[in-house]
Amino acid sequence: MSSAHYRRILLKVSGEMLAGEQGYGIQPSILEGLAEEIADVVAMDVEVAVVIGGGNIFRGLAASARGMERASADYMGMLATVLNALALQNALEGKGVSTRVQSAIEMRQLAEGYIRRRAIRHLEKKRVVIFAGGTGNPYFSTDTAASLRAMEIGAQVIMKGTKVDGIYDSDPVKNPQAKKYNEIPFLSILTQNLKVMDSTAISLCMDNRLPLIVFNLKEKGNFKRVVQGDPIGTLVTV
Ligand code: UDP
Repeated sequence: MSSAHYRRILLKVSGEMLAGEQGYGIQPSILEGLAEEIADVVAMDVEVAVVIGGGNIFRGLAASARGMERASADYMGMLATVLNALALQNALEGKGVSTRVQSAIEMRQLAEGYIRRRAIRHLEKKRVVIFAGGTGNPYFSTDTAASLRAMEIGAQVIMKGTKVDGIYDSDPVKNPQAKKYNEIPFLSILTQNLKVMDSTAISLCMDNRLPLIVFNLKEKGNFKRVVQGDPIGTLVTV
């Protein structure tokens, strides 16, 4: 029996998560752990969509700061998310979880194109849908893709898995006095300029009243706990 608090969720995983200690690329043990966490939630009969980032391989903004034209650099960043999506698909299928990758940039040989109604159908059939390619547009982020896709598929919540256990008033790594919020409104994130998601992603969630939970995905079992409604992490609402 499912003890899940949610029926359909969107998990955002940053590329950085996948890099682990090595700081670049994909660390196999992290990928395995992530697949296990997702498989556990799928077993609870929850519909799971995933938006995966690409920052472990390539970031458009950083490359443009070094002189590359921004749009080209961003397309490279979007391709990086496809690499991560295929790796996650492979790890999930290895655990017996049925998956589909849908890419915002067409790549017919290796992923479906993004078709909203098709994505919803996959979810209804309990397939994990991995959204690759971000929004398909330069100058956006995969956080914005997460907000957009979550709304399109009618997810009840976005769960952003990070390396810290929630949102703090300052960087807890640099400031030991940093205070963690259990709940915070979207507007405070914007006015306090807290580094949670970029402002486009936050605004989209706020305007459409889509709740966001930020939690530590590195800790084993946390994803399941959040899906069960455990108040770990930080809940962001209007
Ligand atoms: N990107 C983009 N449009 C999008 C999503 C991503 O141009 O809709 C590019 C952008 O260059 C970004 C890179 O893809 O730096 C990787 O995505 P992101 O930085 O959001 O990944 P994360 O920080 O989650 O690893």
